[in-house]
Amino acid sequence: MIHLCSDQITVFQSIIQQTNSAVVVSAGSVLISDPAWLPGEIAEIAAYARQPVGRIPPRLLFTHSDFDHILGYGAFPGSNVIASKGLKQHPNKKAVIQEIREWDNNNFFSRNYPMEFPQVDMPIPADGAEFPFGKTRLRFFLSPGHNMDGIFTLVEEPGILLAGDYLSDFELPIIHYSYQDYVDTLRKAEKLIIGGQVRLLVPGHGKVTQDPMEMKRRLKVAFDYLKQLEDALSRKDETLIQCLSEQFAFPSAFTKVCHETNVKIVRQALFGRKRG
Ligand SMILES: [Zn+2]
Repeated sequence: MIHLCSDQITVFQSIIQQTNSAVVVSAGSVLISDPAWLPGEIAEIAAYARQPVGRIPPRLLFTHSDFDHILGYGAFPGSNVIASKGLKQHPNKKAVIQEIREWDNNNFFSRNYPMEFPQVDMPIPADGAEFPFGKTRLRFFLSPGHNMDGIFTLVEEPGILLAGDYLSDFELPIIHYSYQDYVDTLRKAEKLIIGGQVRLLVPGHGKVTQDPMEMKRRLKVAFDYLKQLEDALSRKDETLIQCLSEQFAFPSAFTKVCHETNVKIVRQALFGRKRG
């Protein structure tokens, strides 16, 4: 389903987990990020991405290696793949593919393309890497914290930030990897947003926004949640910890695990292993 359409970008939003896939176009170059979820939705994105030029194979961008973001890879053979160096060196690619198979099997899904972990052609090693894209440039920033191998991509003109699993309008921070990295990554996004470089924010899940106030609101929600979680853990305030677990949208077994993982990782960052 098309969520946003302009000259330079079309955002498709899956009915599964409101996952966003973007097709960015500049002077004949095409970039597709995280094509997802259902086979028909991915086919729609592939057909759309072929339209604008047809000559230059699209580039595929993966914001991070969570299975919901890489499951469309096999539907775009011959594409040039951009992702972080961390994703290229992922230590357990088989496990990620197994998660996709599990999900597909649970939902009786067949896909008409091979299920493989992305082979990365352009690994992004560090903050500030950039290269030309059509008439504009892509700039990359590592964004670990949610997981270990995220990247932000800034399409300089017109100022699109492909943010992966940060700054959703409904999803609280989910920290699977590192609390300190998560905070540092939010600070990077804040710098870009406050600096006026982001005119369209595309999160991995949820609504896109062009409104600077809304971008700042999302940053504040994330920072406030993390601060409250820190305070609750410092004071051993079980009531507040419980209260924070209930603030997740779409409460489920999944959000319960997300909350428990956040508690574990933030507690470990604050107090180390001994008191964890
Ligand atoms: Zn995701």
